[in-house]
Amino acid sequence: MTVYNFSAGPAVLPASVLLKAQSELLAYEDSGQSVLEMSHRSPIFESIRDAAEQSIRRLMSIPDSYSVLFLQGGASLQFSMLPQNLATQTGRVDFIDTGGWSKKAVADAKQYATVDVLASSADQGYRFIPDGPFSSSADYLHITWNNTLEGTTFPTVPRVGVPLVADISSSILSEPMTVEDFDVLYAGAQKNLGVAGMTVVIIKNDLLDRVPDTIGAYLRYDIHAKHRSLYNTPPTFSLYMTKLVLEWIEQTGLETITKRNAAQATLLYEAIDQSTVFHNAVAVRDRSRMNIPFSTGSEAEDTVFLAFAERHDLINLAGHRSIGGMRASLYNAMPTEGVEALIDILHRFEQGER
Ligand SMILES: *Cc1c(COP(=O)(O)O)cnc(C)c1O
Repeated sequence: MTVYNFSAGPAVLPASVLLKAQSELLAYEDSGQSVLEMSHRSPIFESIRDAAEQSIRRLMSIPDSYSVLFLQGGASLQFSMLPQNLATQTGRVDFIDTGGWSKKAVADAKQYATVDVLASSADQGYRFIPDGPFSSSADYLHITWNNTLEGTTFPTVPRVGVPLVADISSSILSEPMTVEDFDVLYAGAQKNLGVAGMTVVIIKNDLLDRVPDTIGAYLRYDIHAKHRSLYNTPPTFSLYMTKLVLEWIEQTGLETITKRNAAQATLLYEAIDQSTVFHNAVAVRDRSRMNIPFSTGSEAEDTVFLAFAERHDLINLAGHRSIGGMRASLYNAMPTEGVEALIDILHRFEQGER
């Protein structure tokens, strides 16, 4: 039985990565110990950490003028770390509000800074990304690049002349991105990069000078950068899993993955758009290639569909609890067969099968 897992996160991992982790679980290489048992100060663990950093640097072409940090606390901790570290010049932070995760980032920033929402699509159900041009004189502008709940993604990088911070939790390494277009990028690992427990922060080094020494040590980007994410115990197993996922992306090729992601999303959007039962309300220009929400328009019918899909081994298709309906997350590790199986089930449901 093949089960296809459309979870938004924690999410599907490449089978080869799980097998590799399994084969190395009891003893990592010739160390005689499990990664789970290893000191984070040991040379062997440092080699895992370094391999992960070098791999993500190669894959994203991250310049030496940026630090790569492996932190705990999820993407959600960044919502409060960012203003505490970086809103130290004017005390102001600007946002473009594109969904539920933006809203949470706004709420946390308000605890530490004066917040201005430059644009929002909230009153239209977050069905699109607001158009610029935007102007800002704040300490930074924060955007949510891919909106995991609403299924939108920025079509272009907004340019405002202040540092640009982007939450890329649900789209990191799903396609190429120009790191230099941004000053901070961050992503929880459990969507496209590994397992829960770790967040990757890519930060331009000149921003580290702004970090105040009046916040707790763990909260400070400059301390993590100086200690190469080994200030305290990092999430060692998560970091190891991310190393494996990054190796898999390098072996597969980011170009191959990008093309596959685009093709899979196109297949599913076409099936939904041609359907007489299912629909997706997102503006075509701004549609996410990672998270695809859809609905029958009836809560009761959606529930029937979800049960039907699950009986055919298509799992975790329920939309976020704040939105309802269905959502198919097509992260890098989703095989095309999974998308084809979903489309087949959409057609059978349309034809009256239950
Ligand atoms: C999942 C998600 C988050 C929250 O991640 P946690 O690791 O659970 O804190 C934040 N932003 C986006 C865009 C997400 O998809």
